[in-house]
Amino acid sequence: MIPARFEYHSPASVEEALKLLGLHGDGAKLLAGGHSLIPELKLRLQSIDHLIDLGRIASLRSIKEAGGKIAIGAMTTHHAVATSDVVRGKCALLAECASMIGDIQVRNRGTIGGSLSHADPAADYPAAILALEAEIEATSAKGKRTLAADGFFVDMLQTALQAGEIITEVRVAAIPKGTGAVYQKVPQPASGFAIVGVAAVVTLDGGKISRARVGVTGAAVKAFRAKATEAALIGKAPDEATLAKAAAAATNGMEMSGDIFASSEYRAHLVRVYTKRALAEAVKRAKG
Ligand code: FAD
Repeated sequence: MIPARFEYHSPASVEEALKLLGLHGDGAKLLAGGHSLIPELKLRLQSIDHLIDLGRIASLRSIKEAGGKIAIGAMTTHHAVATSDVVRGKCALLAECASMIGDIQVRNRGTIGGSLSHADPAADYPAAILALEAEIEATSAKGKRTLAADGFFVDMLQTALQAGEIITEVRVAAIPKGTGAVYQKVPQPASGFAIVGVAAVVTLDGGKISRARVGVTGAAVKAFRAKATEAALIGKAPDEATLAKAAAAATNGMEMSGDIFASSEYRAHLVRVYTKRALAEAVKRAKG
């Protein structure tokens, strides 16, 4: 399929990209890795007049560490995140998650900013971003604002980003000693997208769980935090019965999706099973 005609722009800076966005408004789309947008254009699910390619903006491709946080530019590829010494050393969960996305071709083109903006309900990053309580920096002509991961994913393919905003950076805190973090998924066999993916971050203090964050993707119209699971863990010893009881609450309040790969009942089962496995592994890692 050939997309409808559009004008291609290749700005060299965020400022230039914002000017183009302002000028062309609803008729314009940003291009990152193109792995979701290009097929949509070719299938004519989207039609645009202007394509603004962020690929030449070097400042959006960086991984920096500052003040206990790791700042990842929006155009950083999944491969760069998966193989970064900084991310692997300070926030291994994110590198682990990136390494499980698609295949090597997909990881070499797809970007963290593109994945989060697209908000595919089966994308992997959203689970990790939620469990890590990441900050998403959005830049517009009005300036920068920081969006919390919790609340960023609004609905299927919908985020809290507003018109005219570009994701410029994603920030995660370094994982401290005594905290274990893990991402586990059931991949769709052809694409690798998550049929279910669970990220868990667990902190132990004096043999009890003092903090827990669980992000779930693939299971519903949007990625979500399993807050009932998190609450059920606080102040408890991380034994088998506690983890099982907490994991059983992982689907509370969410309607599970069903499709040809997994019925909603099976997805609910997978969420509970994978939440328990992810919690057990996070506890193991927290103990060092
Ligand atoms: P694009 O396709 O370029 O853009 C997607 C959307 O985001 C567009 O609407 C665009 O305008 C907008 N956008 C892009 N960048 C920004 C920005 N900085 N600010 C605001 N808006 C922006 N993902 C997984 O998580 N797991 C998988 O297993 C997986 N498997 C895949 C297998 C295949 C065969 C393919 C084609 C894709 C797969 N993906 C998977 C998705 C892929 O990894 C990308 O994350 C995804 O396509 C979007 O990222 P992108 O950089 O390609 O964005």
